[in-house]
Amino acid sequence: MTKIVTRFAPSPTGSLHIGGARTALFNWLFARHHGGKFLMRIEDTDQVRSTKEAKQAIFDGMQWLGLDTDGPVIMQSQQIERHQEIVKQLLTAGNAYPCFMTAEELAAEKLLAREQKRRFYSPWRDKQANERPADKPFVVRLKAPIDGTTIIFDKVQGQVELQNQQLDDLVLLRSDGSATYMLAVVVDDHDMGITHIIRGDDHLVNAARQILVYQAMNWQVPKFAHIPLIHGPDGKKLSKRHGALGIDAYKAMGYLPEAIVNYLLRLGWSDGDKEFFSIEQAISAFSLSGINKGPSRLDFDKMAHVNSHYIKNADQTRLAELVFEYAKEQDDKSFSIAEQELVRNALPHLLSRVKLIPDILTQTEFLTQNRPIEISEKGKKQIDQQKMQYLGELRSELNDLSNWNENTLQSCLKEFASKQGIGFGKFGPILRLAVTGGKPSPDLAVLCYLLGRKETLSRIDDLLDLEVK
Ligand code: GLU
Repeated sequence: MTKIVTRFAPSPTGSLHIGGARTALFNWLFARHHGGKFLMRIEDTDQVRSTKEAKQAIFDGMQWLGLDTDGPVIMQSQQIERHQEIVKQLLTAGNAYPCFMTAEELAAEKLLAREQKRRFYSPWRDKQANERPADKPFVVRLKAPIDGTTIIFDKVQGQVELQNQQLDDLVLLRSDGSATYMLAVVVDDHDMGITHIIRGDDHLVNAARQILVYQAMNWQVPKFAHIPLIHGPDGKKLSKRHGALGIDAYKAMGYLPEAIVNYLLRLGWSDGDKEFFSIEQAISAFSLSGINKGPSRLDFDKMAHVNSHYIKNADQTRLAELVFEYAKEQDDKSFSIAEQELVRNALPHLLSRVKLIPDILTQTEFLTQNRPIEISEKGKKQIDQQKMQYLGELRSELNDLSNWNENTLQSCLKEFASKQGIGFGKFGPILRLAVTGGKPSPDLAVLCYLLGRKETLSRIDDLLDLEVK
C-alpha cells in the first residue's frame, strides 16, 4: 500500500488563520493516524500579498499547536522553473496552447459566452503552430475537454460531478511567464507525492479544474477531502468582523495549545459524543469519515469551556511557567522568586474558577501586593461602623486559631457567623476588602490561607486603622 502523504499549503498573506489551523490539524492527524507523512508548502507566488512576517506567523502558529512537519518546507516560489517545464510538456503534447487574446477580446468573449450560456472559447485553441504570431504577448491555456463530465470523488462531499462545459480552458502560465495557482498546486502536489488533499470546500470547484491538469499530464489524481468552512457564531461566513481570526490571538487571550487543538478537532469532526481527546486519542480516532458535512460555527463559550478543562488537567509546574511567560509577554510583568512561589501554591486552589491563563493572574494579584494594599473606591464606600466592628471581632478569632489551614479557617468563619447570628454577607465583604483591596479572589478561607496568618492579620489591621466616616 502506498504511504499516505498529506500537506498543508497556506498562502502567507496573514497569520495562521483559525480555518487554516484546522485544515493543518486534519492533514496532520490523518497522516499520523496512518503512519504517513505530513508536509508543508508555502504558496508564496503572489509576491505582492506574501510577507515574511506572515510566513513566520504561520510557522510559529504551527509550532505552538504542535503540528510538526516531515521534511523541509517547500516554497512554491522556488519551483517556478519546474512549473514552466511542465507547461512546456503540455504544449508539446498538444494539451495546452498559447492564447494571444487581448484584454478587450477577452472581455468581449467572456460577455458573449455569458449571454449565450456557453463556456468561454479562445480562437487560439485550435490554431496550428504556423498560424501563431511570433511577437505578441500570450498566456498558456489548458486545452480542457469540451464534452463529458469531470467527477470529484470527494471523501467528505461524496461524488461531485461537473459538466466540462462549465470548466473553461484555464490559464496555466501568465504572460509574464509565471505559473498560476491552478497549475502550481498540481505540479507541486504531484512532485511532493501527495496522496490526500484535505482542505476547505472553497476549493471544491478548483479540484475539478486541477483534475483536468492531472489528466492532461497523465498523473495519478490524489484523493480529495473538502471540509466545510468555519462560520462565525452568527452563522455567517467567517470574516474580520468576527474578530480573533489568527491562532496568535488565541495564544494572546490565554488559551492552551492543546485546548485549541481539541476545540478545532471537534469543530467539524466527531466520534460519537466524545468531547475531550488527548493528542494520542485524536491520532488514533481520526478518520475522514468523521468529518461533518455541514458548516461548523465558532462558539467562544465552548472554546473557553474546553480551555478550562485543559487548565484543570494541566501539569501544574508547566502551567505556572505558562502563567509567568504570559505575564512577561502580554503585560511585561516579571515575578520575583518569592512571588512565583505564592502563585505556585495558589494554583491548585484556583483551577476550578479559571478559564484562561490571565484569569490566574487576576486571581492571584491580591497575593503579590505590598502593604498597605490599595482599597478600591467602591470598596471604601461599603465601610461602616458595624462592619468594622465585625472585622475587629473576627480578627481576634482568627488570631486565636491554633492551626492556619483551609479547614480551620472555614470553620472559624462559620462559627463566627453563627455566634453573631449573622450571615456571611454581613462580614465576608469587609474581610475580603481588607485582604484583597477589592480585587477578584478565591474563597475567603482559601485566600486567608494562601496569604498566611501574619499577612492576613496585618492587612486586617491596616483596614481597621482607616478612619471610618
Ligand atoms: N494556498 C491555498 C489557500 O491558502 C490552499 C491551496 C490548497 O490547499 O490546495 O487557500
